Amino acid sequence: MKVPLLDLRPPLEELRDEIVEAVTQVIDSTRYIMGPEIERLEKEIAEYCGTADAVGASSGTDALLLSLMVLDVGPGDIVLTSNFSFFATAGVVARLNATPFFVDIDPGTYNIDPKQLRITLAGMDEETRKRVKAIIPVHLYGQCADMAEIIDIAGEFDIPIIEDGAQAIGAECEINGKTRRAGSMGDFGCFSFFPTKNLGGVGDGGIVTVNKPELAELLRLKRVHGGERKYYHRVIGGNFRLDPIQATVIRVKLPRLYKWHKQRKKNADYYNKLFGEAGLGGKVRTPQIEHIQSLQNPHIYNQYVIRAERRDELQSFLTENEIAVAIYYPLPFHLQECFLHLGGKAGDFPVSEAAAREVLALPVYPGMSREMQETVVEKIAEFYQA
Ligand SMILES: *Cc1c(COP(=O)(O)O)cnc(C)c1O
Repeated sequence: MKVPLLDLRPPLEELRDEIVEAVTQVIDSTRYIMGPEIERLEKEIAEYCGTADAVGASSGTDALLLSLMVLDVGPGDIVLTSNFSFFATAGVVARLNATPFFVDIDPGTYNIDPKQLRITLAGMDEETRKRVKAIIPVHLYGQCADMAEIIDIAGEFDIPIIEDGAQAIGAECEINGKTRRAGSMGDFGCFSFFPTKNLGGVGDGGIVTVNKPELAELLRLKRVHGGERKYYHRVIGGNFRLDPIQATVIRVKLPRLYKWHKQRKKNADYYNKLFGEAGLGGKVRTPQIEHIQSLQNPHIYNQYVIRAERRDELQSFLTENEIAVAIYYPLPFHLQECFLHLGGKAGDFPVSEAAAREVLALPVYPGMSREMQETVVEKIAEFYQA
């Protein structure tokens, strides 16, 4: 049985007529830049995430870049972030000629380790610490970072937080007994509508969630080249606008997001059961959930990632058997060629380096069959029995 990593067709088939109708309406309106669909989506996403406001953006990457620009991050500044994420998280910092400063991750969740974050900040001299303009925790694979701790640390050192929630829209955690959603805990929450995310468009798109009105205003200003009035520019911005065609598609999909999250969770639970029965403990470790299970979405499983012994051989074996799997991510930031000038060496971040060697993402998309999942686990068991 052939098993793809992701199949975007089942949700498309389900919503095809509504999506085509919505896109046709945007086309017929001749309103192709900004407009009412953007405003409606911004309201709906803010409500979904539990924030006062949201500002559409051209992509998840641009949502991060725009947030950093609102904080006036530039040359000489430092931004602390996880060492293990999609490249955009660190790339945006470097694009503003600021310095990304990496922090190792927690081995269970792959999210930034608050203990390491504290050690990093405590180890800086006063001058260096003053240059730290933001912390970007990533909610990797669909599970929130340890935000209670991160908020404490950021508060202590008075540093703004930009949540990279690109893989985690709707993911929840609990802070002081209250359920909070990704994007509502920091100063900015950045999301992506890239088609492979849990809430994906038919092209690129993104959004920033915010609570403070003054930050929302600056996001909107810098999204359109820093001009309130056309051709009069108060500050430097860029073209970071969300396309109304993407906005209208996301609006059709948003009411179904809960259902898709639930299907992913069901698939993840089934994998956990199958791996338990296969007795692969020691060879394969299933994802670790840190947040209380009674939450609606303690993990939204944008990726279901196992840690596997002899990972690369296992990947080749699965590929030969027509099971698509992926490695997110094979190289931590400090060892990326473009960041070597920052002085990173092998051994500097042992937890990220081990993760990069061992992680393997299995197909977990809504609509995949139980037989497919059984095939995946059977083949993995076969690999280790050989
Ligand atoms: C996808 C992703 C981004 C970037 O989003 P784009 O819309 O592709 O620009 C940023 N950070 C993380 C963690 C991501 O997974």
